[in-house]
Amino acid sequence: MLEINGLDVHYGGVHALRGLSLTISPGEIVALLGNNGAGKTTTLSAVSGLVRPTAGKVVFDGREVTREKPHKIAARGLVHVPEGRRVFSTLTVHENLQLGGYLVRDQAEIRKRIERVYGLLPRLAERRAQQGGTLSGGEQQMLAIGRALVTGPRLLLLDEPSMGLAPLVVASVMELIADINAEGTSVLLVEQNATAALKIAHRGYVIENGECVLDGPAAELREDARVVEAYLGGV
Ligand code: ATP
Repeated sequence: MLEINGLDVHYGGVHALRGLSLTISPGEIVALLGNNGAGKTTTLSAVSGLVRPTAGKVVFDGREVTREKPHKIAARGLVHVPEGRRVFSTLTVHENLQLGGYLVRDQAEIRKRIERVYGLLPRLAERRAQQGGTLSGGEQQMLAIGRALVTGPRLLLLDEPSMGLAPLVVASVMELIADINAEGTSVLLVEQNATAALKIAHRGYVIENGECVLDGPAAELREDARVVEAYLGGV
């Protein structure tokens, strides 16, 4: 479904990605792990068209999307939820969700998708008239993901959805991601919280300094001594 092949990204003199390759098959949750500055966010931005790679290819559903405009890529069903939640704080929950439909012409389809989000996230349904900025951190993260669902993703790119959330809330965000995946959406999940990510992911990649240093099934990564030491708190 997604193929990243030999991707290079430079920010001026900074070489942020160095020949990165990864694949995602339909139905998979793939975790992308790595320390601060490893190049995780850059990978998502290069896939969704927000930064231009200097070399390499991104192929989505058999079609090359490298260097396409971000809104075209989103319209193909490749939807990016950036780090930091970014809900519109003075708009209501419902209005935030409606904005997710900006690429969808069919108003009835938008309403149907919003109802599906409310079905998946009853807490948001109860708060549909509340301003986005008054939601808790976890609820804002759910809203950001819910808004992306209204765009109609076949592949969701999630950047650190657990950031700044209490452990119990992290667990419910991860459960939401697993539910979305169970309904047929593939997921590329960037996380510093490797423990949480590897619980729901099918496979994972570890990147360091813009290069993939390790990849494999999530169950194997959870047992790998290098991963345990570097990302799972050396248990
Ligand atoms: P974090 O978990 O801290 O977000 P990350 O793995 O997502 O880290 P990136 O944000 O992709 O890492 O950054 C990769 C490298 O590129 C870092 O060295 C970073 O300083 C650099 N970088 C990222 N964005 C820019 C930018 N806009 N201009 C210059 N350098 C950048």
